[in-house]
Amino acid sequence: MEELNVKGLVLKASDLGEHDKLLTVMTEEKGKVLATIKGGKSLKSRFMSVSEPFIYASFGLRRSSKFFYLFDSDVIDDFYPIREDIFKMSLASYICDIANELSLEDSPDPDLVKLTLNALYALAYKDSDIGIVKSAYEFKAAVISGYMPEISCCSVCGRDPEDDSFIDAASGTLICSDCITLPREKTGITPASVVLPITRTALLALRYLETCPINRFLSFRLNSDVGVFSNVCEKYLSCHLEKDFYTLTFYKSLF
Ligand SMILES: [Zn+2]
Repeated sequence: MEELNVKGLVLKASDLGEHDKLLTVMTEEKGKVLATIKGGKSLKSRFMSVSEPFIYASFGLRRSSKFFYLFDSDVIDDFYPIREDIFKMSLASYICDIANELSLEDSPDPDLVKLTLNALYALAYKDSDIGIVKSAYEFKAAVISGYMPEISCCSVCGRDPEDDSFIDAASGTLICSDCITLPREKTGITPASVVLPITRTALLALRYLETCPINRFLSFRLNSDVGVFSNVCEKYLSCHLEKDFYTLTFYKSLF
């Protein structure tokens, strides 16, 4: 019988039949793993402490037909302070939805695991700006999942724009304020393009995020143009995921 000992973050916990629970766990070693907790809906379940999202734990799993089932677990971090704040809780739920969407079974993505844990850690234990955590996570998650933007220079004239410019969130390309006025066939803009304004300050923040180490993804300051930056990060990810998240709608409804 296949047995697995992994560390992982619970992204989702749902009911399975009358008595059981199904956990969606993101692991460094195996990618996304679906794990059944037999009797997990009971208040007496010994796995109660790992039966909810945002729990980082070690899991002992055995395979039984389609799913693994849990036979052992030990909580490493429950990121408890997130649960005490509706803003943090709703953002963490959105972040876990993104991670769930981007991770695949039997396809390890340790960088995405690291990024997600770093984001939850910042929400739980650091004084990070919650809006910056959201935007930086969105953009960095897109980049490490292979959606690399081309924002070092204008895609039309090749110059590095000194002032405000435009980014096509669908193709991840940059267009300077001079070239945006050219006829469409010269700019590369298509009906599928999502052209958004971007300032120099926000562009530099995106460039930082594109290449920074994962554990430094919140180590930048943005003293202005936060709205422009946030808009680009959210649209850039959503263009690539092509999915609406209820958790995002809920998070935004809080403001
Ligand atoms: Zn240009």
